[in-house]
Amino acid sequence: MSSYLFSLTFSEMEKLVPGFPRYRYAQLFDWIYKKRIFDLNRMTNISGDFRNILKEKTIFDYPAIEEEKNTSDNTTKFLFKLHDGNFIEAVIIDSVKRKTFCLSSQVGCPIQCRFCASGMYGLTRNLDPGEITGQFLLLSRFLKKLPDNVVFMGIGEPLLNFKNLMDSLNIICSEEYINFSQRRITISTSGIPDGIRKLAELDRQYNLAISLHATDDITRARLIPDNASFPIKEIVEASMEYFKKTGRLITIEYTLIKEINDSLSQARELAGIAKKLRAKINLIPYNAVKGREFTRPEDRICFSFYKKLKDLGAHVTFRLEKGSNINAACGQLRANKISE
Ligand code: SAH
Repeated sequence: MSSYLFSLTFSEMEKLVPGFPRYRYAQLFDWIYKKRIFDLNRMTNISGDFRNILKEKTIFDYPAIEEEKNTSDNTTKFLFKLHDGNFIEAVIIDSVKRKTFCLSSQVGCPIQCRFCASGMYGLTRNLDPGEITGQFLLLSRFLKKLPDNVVFMGIGEPLLNFKNLMDSLNIICSEEYINFSQRRITISTSGIPDGIRKLAELDRQYNLAISLHATDDITRARLIPDNASFPIKEIVEASMEYFKKTGRLITIEYTLIKEINDSLSQARELAGIAKKLRAKINLIPYNAVKGREFTRPEDRICFSFYKKLKDLGAHVTFRLEKGSNINAACGQLRANKISE
């Protein structure tokens, strides 16, 4: 059982701190999840004996905000320090229409995509469910309301921290706790067929985004190390199963990298895969990372790639490159902190 108070469900709480009437636990959860007050001393209706035993048996520690950076485009980036001194990142993306939280699932990343900052130092450890829920709660407290959407596109590979992610999402999405809609959550994966199938079996309404970045296995191998990369065919098949089982449309993420995956013939192939999967394509022009040799194609190349997809009838969006001027893209704030 986790030590973080944010990770505990009703029944776990009853086991850990037994002997109180159920409404006592409900009051506690109301302070945390509805009022977003995390300080026991400010929970005015919590009795002294309940308070003392809670202090003794649970850890109220939650990710602490170490750094906060704003940009002119209304993106706020947070560097969180965890109880063991590790760092993770989360972002609030504030567009006119909606507020999106981008959360981390692991400290570091085992996949180590060659173009990405998050995996530069490999995987340190999985996040505890409370550390995932904690990011959600602290950002909600900062925003003074719940977000419109949540995407797991921060540090880590969410499907390789499956159990903890699901435990956290159960707290975030169930009525008893935060009651946030499953349909407003997107899990982004580097493409792990077994993980995608496991998620499909749960039959939830989460959105699935797959980071394809290539239309053939040879090109993909230049971006994702062999030991972490699966054949595109298998990824597409598993994603198809997810779509069939849940009815949720799949998003294909495609980071456009100069002279690697930006040709018009690759656009054509991509349109074909998307059509087969009935997926939407999210194009992300590469955001340069210190220490990585890849570069972003010129704007006109990105645009012709986009136009080709459009002309072929694909449903495609350009991800506006938010946060690049504050090192906000994927693990860069943490990488800077580690290399200080
Ligand atoms: N492990 C998950 C979540 C990672 S971040 C996954 O792979 O999907 C979300 C997306 O941002 C992924 O598609 C990832 O490949 C992409 N990404 C990472 N670093 C990037 C960079 N520097 N520029 C553009 N996209 C990047």
